[in-house]
Amino acid sequence: MIDGKTRTCGLIGNPVEHTMSPAIQNFLADHTGQNLRYLPYLVEAEELEGAVEGAFALNFLGLNVTVPYKSDVIPFLSDIDELASQIGAVNTLVRTKDGFKGYNTDMPGLCRAMQSDGAGICGEKVLVLGAGGVARAVALMLAREGAREIRILNRTLSKAEEIAREVNELEGRQIVIPMKTEGWRELPEGEKYLVIQATKVGMFPLVDEVLISDEAFYQKVKFGYDLIYNPEDTRFMKLVRQAGGKACNGFKMLLYQGIIAFELWTGEKISEELAEETYAYALEQMKH
Ligand code: NAP
Repeated sequence: MIDGKTRTCGLIGNPVEHTMSPAIQNFLADHTGQNLRYLPYLVEAEELEGAVEGAFALNFLGLNVTVPYKSDVIPFLSDIDELASQIGAVNTLVRTKDGFKGYNTDMPGLCRAMQSDGAGICGEKVLVLGAGGVARAVALMLAREGAREIRILNRTLSKAEEIAREVNELEGRQIVIPMKTEGWRELPEGEKYLVIQATKVGMFPLVDEVLISDEAFYQKVKFGYDLIYNPEDTRFMKLVRQAGGKACNGFKMLLYQGIIAFELWTGEKISEELAEETYAYALEQMKH
């Protein structure tokens, strides 16, 4: 029921039409008894500052921020969490007395999703495919979670080198190694890797595409984690499974970034049971 005490949250971005966040957040509100509604808001670039100020003036409890504003929104915040600042991107704004504080729940979300899927990070040798904004954040998260070695494979070597330089500097050790995508052929024989697919290659509608098509690569993959969730099974995931590895998509990352945002807004701790129920519900909604 919406009444005089209902609190509002929302998503700002462009586009927002295909977002699953309202389904996730309103389900969580309904199942925790929080009097809260969550709506998507399409915001044009020149209106971003006005949108953030307007949401604060309207007493919004919080906002999620999606592409293309995850970095552009930072100047309009009153405060920023340290991890979000290091990542250089925020996806969650939490109301404070003076304005919104920015957080990044994408990376803690990926971490919780990987835990839930049994993809351990600590002590692992990891390959990250791609060197965009998400790959940079993933590399930082992997370093913090105790990965033994992180190799970034990218079409454009200079972008992988830039991430390696930044993360190695932040961490104070040479943990990230940049490589060209084809460099996988020089990886030591017999090693098995956790592989995180952090490019758009294979995303709907180009579902037959894959960054590395050579089946020999997949002999090196023990766990393939694709950050894409549409389609549910990407070609990358199919190739991992064909070679005997385990594969997951990015839908749980999406779920857990939303759960962590909800926890920040409301102070509720979402149980694993409710997380599983929310996952099943959101997956069903996505198929409609
Ligand atoms: P991005 O900045 O656009 O990065 C794209 C990366 O992919 C670049 O390194 C680029 O290589 C590479 N790439 C793109 N097209 C390519 C092609 N045709 N061949 C070879 N390499 C190609 O993307 P992003 O924002 O970091 O996002 C990465 C992925 O994460 C996307 O699939 C996105 O959907 C996913 N994601 C998932 C969630 C979730 O909740 N599950 C959340 C956020 C993002 P170059 O450097 O050579 O151009």
